[in-house]
Amino acid sequence: MSKLAIHGGQPIRDSYLSYGRQWIDEHDLEMVSKVLKGEYLTTGPYVSEFERQVAEQVGADYAVAVANGTAALHMACFAAGIEEDDEVIVSSMTFAASANCVLYQGGTPAFADIDPLTYNIDVDDLEKRITKKTKAIIPVDFTGQPVDMDGIMKIADRYGLIVIEDAAHALGSEYRGRKVGSLADMTMFSFHPVKPITTAEGGIITTSNELYYQKMSLFRTHGITRDPSLLVENEGPWHYEQHCLGYNYRLTDLQCALGISQLRRLDEFIQRRRTIVRRYNEALGRLPGVITPYEADYSNSGWHLYIIRLRLEGFMVGRKEIFEALRAENIGVNVHYIPVYLHPYYQELGYKKGTCPNAERLYEEIITLPLFPKMTDQDVEDVISAVEKVLNYYRR
Ligand SMILES: *Cc1c(COP(=O)(O)O)cnc(C)c1O
Repeated sequence: MSKLAIHGGQPIRDSYLSYGRQWIDEHDLEMVSKVLKGEYLTTGPYVSEFERQVAEQVGADYAVAVANGTAALHMACFAAGIEEDDEVIVSSMTFAASANCVLYQGGTPAFADIDPLTYNIDVDDLEKRITKKTKAIIPVDFTGQPVDMDGIMKIADRYGLIVIEDAAHALGSEYRGRKVGSLADMTMFSFHPVKPITTAEGGIITTSNELYYQKMSLFRTHGITRDPSLLVENEGPWHYEQHCLGYNYRLTDLQCALGISQLRRLDEFIQRRRTIVRRYNEALGRLPGVITPYEADYSNSGWHLYIIRLRLEGFMVGRKEIFEALRAENIGVNVHYIPVYLHPYYQELGYKKGTCPNAERLYEEIITLPLFPKMTDQDVEDVISAVEKVLNYYRR
């Protein structure tokens, strides 16, 4: 039996509704089982086919699939040549992996503040944080809304910076009618189960730069190549060579078969997410004290996350109490994200509270509501009812 709602009575839902989850169908199962019965479990024909399809989907020349999105970011930082003494400007409102990848390469992340409307990296603030050491930028398409790529590319061109777009939330999103994945020097997508499509774990970089593509292909598999045109020596048909220090970051054939099957349904998934968002906006936009998400005119978001912002002065309690009350209603709310540099690890590295005031303020006021394609209309109405119930209860 579920516990009582925080202010007494039965919760809106009997069962817990998580904030995000996968949608696996029979076709997915058949594809995976076909691979399991076949010749290759890891690197095989489905890996290159999945890469080909993702590249085509986003309009890029190349894609390199790896074990997860974090590995993909690491690989992109390697290809960009990030090393000691290099600075990389990262959005502050993101998952830690967006900045950790810079540290993996010995570089230094510098955090830029967010735009208070879109919650994406603020292009003016980004420019202010450029130093002589800055080599790259990692903007994040937060919640699926693309960053202002024209603004970012203009700065990147002016200062000679490489742009690695963290599009973990944004497979299928569009910027001014162009697909995310074809806009930056390199773009990362994640296939974690809550993301737009899943391979369980998995990630990919798309690029139209052949040199980056070659570097990434090496990096994914120990830095080893068998390509006869690249070998320094060729002692015989067994010969292979390690040319740089890479990792085993390969994605399996099993997972790529699942990815291909999932990709078939990307448009359907996104349409469903957009339908749910329209209903949320309509119902929650009416509630005093609630700020629903803003979508810029250049954006056609795939809506990975739906985040409401609270005007807390209108309530008798803080975000924490409202969050807990929603959880007690069995609504799987969440908070995305704690600004990266506030984590103890980053604090110990010397990053200071107050660096990005807009991000810090946003963090205090946000709650992520459940949003995933498999949600039923009733699930959506339950979320709305619970938010109305809790906010009306606590409103001043
Ligand atoms: C999920 C996510 C990642 C990391 O992807 P994994 O596949 O989980 O390693 C990086 N950045 C952002 C913004 C994410 O949401």
